[in-house]
Amino acid sequence: MAEPVVDILMYHSVSDRGGATAIEPATFAAQMDAIAEAGLPVIALDDLLAARDGRGALAPHSLILTFDDGFQDFADAAWPVLERHGFRPIVYLPTAHVGRSEDWRGIADPPRPLMGWGTIAALAAEGVAFGSHSVSHADLDALSPEALHAELERSRQRIEDRLGRRVTHFAPPYGIAGPAVRAEIARLYRSSVGTRLGRARPGDDPFDLPRLEMHYFRDIGRWRAHLAGRGAAYLAARRGLRALRGMVARPWQGTVSGSAR
Ligand SMILES: [Zn+2]
Repeated sequence: MAEPVVDILMYHSVSDRGGATAIEPATFAAQMDAIAEAGLPVIALDDLLAARDGRGALAPHSLILTFDDGFQDFADAAWPVLERHGFRPIVYLPTAHVGRSEDWRGIADPPRPLMGWGTIAALAAEGVAFGSHSVSHADLDALSPEALHAELERSRQRIEDRLGRRVTHFAPPYGIAGPAVRAEIARLYRSSVGTRLGRARPGDDPFDLPRLEMHYFRDIGRWRAHLAGRGAAYLAARRGLRALRGMVARPWQGTVSGSAR
């Protein structure tokens, strides 16, 4: 039997603001409807890790829903749709920005507001999981070991203090996490997702899990085809384009290709 495949979907903002980090609410709703119609299970990261450890089994194809940054539009636009379907996502919070606005590299203009702790606590009670996205939304590879440790440890502590539950999942800002950073994440968390494009499997390194950038699946026909198991060629083409762009863009720009994550 083939190893089960898990699509870890990556979202940021669900709004009409445009740009690579925003998905229109109607498109998001259609993407979620397509999952429900396909009858595919939405699982939690803990389920993937349990399967990895031999403590549980997975369906041949399941999905995990992730949202980076904790924008206010998650509560306003995304959660009502998810709740209707009974889908349970995870939201990664940069804790210094909670209740404020984005102010990191490549943000929208004007900056988009992030959820406050009251909203986050209410969502947690309704079934939303929360992970850490660092304290300050820093480029972790650029930090000293001490500063890196503080970004990882303090953000986790803050969310745990606020929500009274363990925080075991991490998403590095911009998807940037070299070997040293990944090793430190592994000391403090149980998983880390990046921006590497691909489908996850239980045997994958849990600290370098690939995700699907859902901006690439705004065409609902394309998304339905993927869910039906007919998306391999499109995904391979997208991965090739990204690799090419990365090689061209990085040397002199010194930035991550694409837009801010
Ligand atoms: Zn981010």
